[in-house]
Amino acid sequence: MPEPPETLPPEMLLRPEIQALSAYHVPDATGLIKLDAMENPYGWPNALRDDWLRALRDAELNRYPDPRAGALQTALREAMAIPAGMDLLLGNGSDELIQMLALAVAAPGQGTGREPARPTLLALEPGFVMYRMIALFAGLEYVGVPLNADDFALDLDATLQAIEAHQPALTFIAYPNNPTGNLFAADAIEQIIAASPGLVIVDEAYAPFTDASFLPRLGDWPNLLVMRTVSKMGLAGLRLGYLAGPPAWIAQFDKVRLPYNVNVLSQASAVFALRHRAVLDQQTQAIRRERERLAAALIALDAGRGRLTVYPSAANFILVRTEPGRASALFDGLLEHGILIKTLDGSHPLLADCLRLTVGLPEENAKLLEALAAMIGRR
Ligand code: PMP
Repeated sequence: MPEPPETLPPEMLLRPEIQALSAYHVPDATGLIKLDAMENPYGWPNALRDDWLRALRDAELNRYPDPRAGALQTALREAMAIPAGMDLLLGNGSDELIQMLALAVAAPGQGTGREPARPTLLALEPGFVMYRMIALFAGLEYVGVPLNADDFALDLDATLQAIEAHQPALTFIAYPNNPTGNLFAADAIEQIIAASPGLVIVDEAYAPFTDASFLPRLGDWPNLLVMRTVSKMGLAGLRLGYLAGPPAWIAQFDKVRLPYNVNVLSQASAVFALRHRAVLDQQTQAIRRERERLAAALIALDAGRGRLTVYPSAANFILVRTEPGRASALFDGLLEHGILIKTLDGSHPLLADCLRLTVGLPEENAKLLEALAAMIGRR
């Protein structure tokens, strides 16, 4: 038998930009109060859990899922008031939808006769990191346009200039934005859509926590798509995102979708959950009220001493800025109190000393405030 050839080492086989990456890190939250990932902290009432498990008894695991997820599409259209004439594309989380869009426009290499040679994905920064990551995975050029440093508002002039200069195939605008929590001015977004030669995707992951939405505006521009997820409304474990837009675009992106990307259990569970949407709505309303209480309490805690700057939020998390150099001490101190939050210090030049606090259960938020009061008051 001939000797098998030696496998090439990673440095010869893998793209340099992939080798240079660190894998997306999710910290272990076992035993901690989990305020790091914008999840809905409320579980389902026991009776509803029992009904859900009964509903799953009909799921057939020996068969592939419905590739079109027809029942789920119908349930989503109704529950989310998708405008008539618009189609839906479903993803394994909205992360997967971003990936489908990126793959569909990717044209690696030169010689397409277009300038620039590689299509561009444009996003606002600081923003959701997966836009940049997925651009890199798909081999797209990535352009990040900085938000205003003081209030994280959209810099319309800079964004329009970048669109003019880079002619992005895809522009992502999170509305509200993660990790800053704010809503950009709607008229600025309208101008961006109108000025864009490519598609503009308004990412409404945090829609359950605000009344603002571009969903009713679908059809006003041929290049507007709206992306949503069920993750933040209380179904993060399902992994289900949806993209709404003109049928001609959705049909094109559907070609990139892997045939069975939303599994049998997720489809059945999502249909069930959407039927009981009132429960989830009550929970998201409670989170909204709790967000206001938490923000007011954080502002009161600081009492104008400048130890904690609290940014306004239309989402289910609050961005705060500590005094210079204090972010990691507060992060570690909270961990000692059994509370896991997200530190953004060092992740972007505009986020120095910033921490992101997901709104938890009232008793979890009370513990967070107590721990912060102990640390901030200590000095
Ligand atoms: N968009 C934004 C703005 C987000 O913050 C997130 C999750 N943090 C997502 C999309 C992805 O959501 P999912 O993949 O859970 O649907």
